[in-house]
Amino acid sequence: MNKKERALFVEKKLNELFPNPKAPLDHRNAFTFLIAVLLSAQTTDKRVNIVTKELFKKASSPEEMLALGENEVYEHIKTCGLAPKKAKAIIATSKILIEKHNGKVPKEIIDLEELPGVGHKTASVVVSEYFKKPAFPVDTHIHRLAQRWGLTNGKSVKQTENDLKEIFDEMNWRNLHLQIIFYGRAFCTARGCDGTICFMCKSLYPNRKTKKKTSKA
Ligand code: SF4
Repeated sequence: MNKKERALFVEKKLNELFPNPKAPLDHRNAFTFLIAVLLSAQTTDKRVNIVTKELFKKASSPEEMLALGENEVYEHIKTCGLAPKKAKAIIATSKILIEKHNGKVPKEIIDLEELPGVGHKTASVVVSEYFKKPAFPVDTHIHRLAQRWGLTNGKSVKQTENDLKEIFDEMNWRNLHLQIIFYGRAFCTARGCDGTICFMCKSLYPNRKTKKKTSKA
């Protein structure tokens, strides 16, 4: 198979496996979605949903979050990875949203990336999932799988993002982003496979005999 054929095969299989992928992070509005995505770095979605259940009852807007204060935010999120850093970022982000954006979450990646704790991936998730605008967030699962499926050379996360955007139709980016993450979690853990075990790689590369090395995100 050439690269385009591999992409079509992957897309078809992912649509069969995850026909209607739903974003797993609970939220009430754009602000709470942004905070949930920010919290999800190095933390499971399940854990994020547990802590935000109470946090968002107390604060679901930048004004309320600022009033809550860093210490109380920390108390709510302390079971998440990197909690002290995230509490600081949540307060700083709330402040900037109020001062620069009238308390609203900006819709452009470039503006989102200026917020503390919000990198390119988090900004892309918010734009794609909440504002329904074309973006292809690439996390470690996607970076690894795109390499094992021969859809990128994996030189960098940026390169992987560019390659995936080029090969897949823009209208499918949002679903594919979620579907590849779900596939990665279900079948293809970071250490669990070398690219020769399950049907996906076997179908794409029937002659692959040796381990496929991937570069990290
Ligand atoms: S063969 Fe391994 S690397 Fe390839 S998709 Fe399956 S689990 Fe992932």
